[in-house]
Amino acid sequence: MRVLLVGAGLSGAVIGRELAEAGHHVSVVDGRDHVGGNCHTYRDGETGVLVHAYGPHIFHTDDAGVWDYVTRFETFHPYRHQVRSTVRGRVYAMPVNLHTINQFFGAAMRPDEARAFIEARAETAITAPRNFEEQALSMIGRELYEAFFKGYTEKQWGCPPRELPAAILKRLPLRFNYDDNYFFHRFQGMPARGYTAMIADILDHPSIELHLQTWFDPAEAGQFDHVFWSGPLDGWFGYDQGRLGYRTLDFERFTDTGDFQGCAVMNYPDGDVPFTRITEHKHFAPWETHERTVCYREYSRACAPGDIPYYPIRLVAEKALLADYVARAQTGAGVTFVGRLGTYRYLDMDVTIREALDTARAFKAHACAGTAMPAFVHPPI
Ligand code: UDP
Repeated sequence: MRVLLVGAGLSGAVIGRELAEAGHHVSVVDGRDHVGGNCHTYRDGETGVLVHAYGPHIFHTDDAGVWDYVTRFETFHPYRHQVRSTVRGRVYAMPVNLHTINQFFGAAMRPDEARAFIEARAETAITAPRNFEEQALSMIGRELYEAFFKGYTEKQWGCPPRELPAAILKRLPLRFNYDDNYFFHRFQGMPARGYTAMIADILDHPSIELHLQTWFDPAEAGQFDHVFWSGPLDGWFGYDQGRLGYRTLDFERFTDTGDFQGCAVMNYPDGDVPFTRITEHKHFAPWETHERTVCYREYSRACAPGDIPYYPIRLVAEKALLADYVARAQTGAGVTFVGRLGTYRYLDMDVTIREALDTARAFKAHACAGTAMPAFVHPPI
């Protein structure tokens, strides 16, 4: 079959590769001048450092199948993600662990003591947290919430944490030991040549035709037997019901010599600091040596037409609009919506790859059976 993948990010590359290997003719188009979507990495001309162009991307997963998949295309160097947080002029360990608790409360508690101490401060009346704030208060209590999460989250999401889903906070662990690894997954690493080189290799197959700087018009979908759309779900419909809300990021680049901050990511949760975090890219490649260093100050704001969408907001108003677009998508045929933008979900890279593999498998099964491929293999709601 002739299949089109719109978007050369992780979803498009993995689905495209799987279908090319199954004997389909695959075209991949992307409006940007590089593959990799928001995982794109490039070498900074001035410093030689490999930069995560759209912000930090750390590969971590418990899914052995996904790990096998990425390591087929790329060598992953061991990498342990370390984040610190500067609160009112002091630096603390992140994610919240025994070190953070002892630093913050000026104590020397052992694990069980700290657990009892935090439990006494946590708002235990909240048994089923309905939102981000309730989740935080019930987990760590007000002091830690206000110091580390409230300001950061308001800046990052542009709304009170009470309006956000609890799931956003559940991304972060709370530990009563000195483990400061940001993630808790079995497999973690950084692609030796960067994500863009890895994704370019996934796309490197004789049955895949790649066209960059090519914008696809949904009106041309009829030229293909099937289209996989990893652009914004509402974009497929020309945003005719209104726009689903996203946060976008602005990066302020600066360079220095040596080591600017001593870790890859320094968070700034204080409300009077306008940015959310500073990323120092050389720490993503600890196996490389560079005299100079390049950092990005990261600012979050509402995504306007023409901006790059990063984080789907998924507030109550968005959910109603989302339901409309999803219902419409499901009445159509010949297109499947995939990935972070196509399904309007906050997806980590490993989940994106897992879903792409499952989507390709579903397509092959439908093609064999002669049945119609659905609009969503992973519905947004
Ligand atoms: N968060 C926070 N303070 C921090 C780090 C994270 O309040 O120091 C909150 C914030 O709302 C953020 C969410 O936790 O959006 C998830 O954090 P994560 O580090 O997973 O965000 P990402 O790196 O995906 O932007």
